[in-house]
Amino acid sequence: MFKPLILATTVLLGLFGTGTAQAAVRDFPTSDAAYHNHAEITQTLNDLQTKYPTMVKPFSLGKSFQGRDIMAAKISADVTVDKDQPELLFICNQHAREHITTEMCLRIAQRYASTPSLITGRAVYVVPTVNPDGKEYDIATGSYRMKRTNMQGAGTDLNRNWGYQWACCGGSSSSPGDETYHGTGAFSAPETAAVKNFVTSRKIGGKQRITQFIDFHNYGQLVMWPYSYTQADTAPGLTAEDLLVYTTTGRQMAQKNGYTPEQASDLYITDGDVMDWMWHDNHIYAYAFEMIGGGANGFYVPASQIESATRVNDGPTDLLVQYADCPPRIAGKTCT
Ligand SMILES: [Zn+2]
Repeated sequence: MFKPLILATTVLLGLFGTGTAQAAVRDFPTSDAAYHNHAEITQTLNDLQTKYPTMVKPFSLGKSFQGRDIMAAKISADVTVDKDQPELLFICNQHAREHITTEMCLRIAQRYASTPSLITGRAVYVVPTVNPDGKEYDIATGSYRMKRTNMQGAGTDLNRNWGYQWACCGGSSSSPGDETYHGTGAFSAPETAAVKNFVTSRKIGGKQRITQFIDFHNYGQLVMWPYSYTQADTAPGLTAEDLLVYTTTGRQMAQKNGYTPEQASDLYITDGDVMDWMWHDNHIYAYAFEMIGGGANGFYVPASQIESATRVNDGPTDLLVQYADCPPRIAGKTCT
């Protein structure tokens, strides 16, 4: 008699659409099943390691606010050896609803793992989602919820929570609940703090091994460089020589993917973003890409376009790999 009772309850819950019934879905809409949720990201990185054990090493950067692992992977020849070689970092999905970016990071991992000759003498790190809590929330009902922030209180905009010029310039909100709420302090979000700690750990013997970086977003089809907090082209820590490296690299990448190259603040002023911190505090050449949009709300690119939307950035990422030993070399300069 017990079983029929449960069945009857389930039917009733289904009929009246209660939260309990909805909570059981917890995944992308069927038409977008090709997208990777948090568990599938972890599984994909583990599968890559199984397939390419000398090239791929998944690891966790730490825990999100709700306790999920923020998964990363290192891709390099002899991946378990910590060599003194140029490194690149690609991060994705700081903003929860920008799911196409997760697929971008997974493509980078898959592509470099399967074709080691593309990254000879380099190590590449990818972080497919910096915001696993927000990602899972966004898909938890089976239809998208337009989530941007993390799940800490009313939600922190992770890309306003970084430590250089945090909350300086009107490019973020001090009101909890706002879409661009910058948090209670720089790195108050466990997700940004985890990435920060990882980047800091790559400074070995006084030298930061990571030289090139992209933070992927959507949408807008833009290749952007620092600074974000000011409209000035040069500012403390970013000289005219630095700017030449940025504009040269940024424009060459834009030629490859068809995006528009510009300084980030040409779009709008943001403060406390990851790019300004990567550059100013770590001297890592840092870019932000806005990928393509799609769907009624702009952010949700149909799964049928994952391949084409991510493939356009093969050229740009390869360009950064090529110059990772000395990014200024692209502008005819030498490194000491
Ligand atoms: Zn974004």
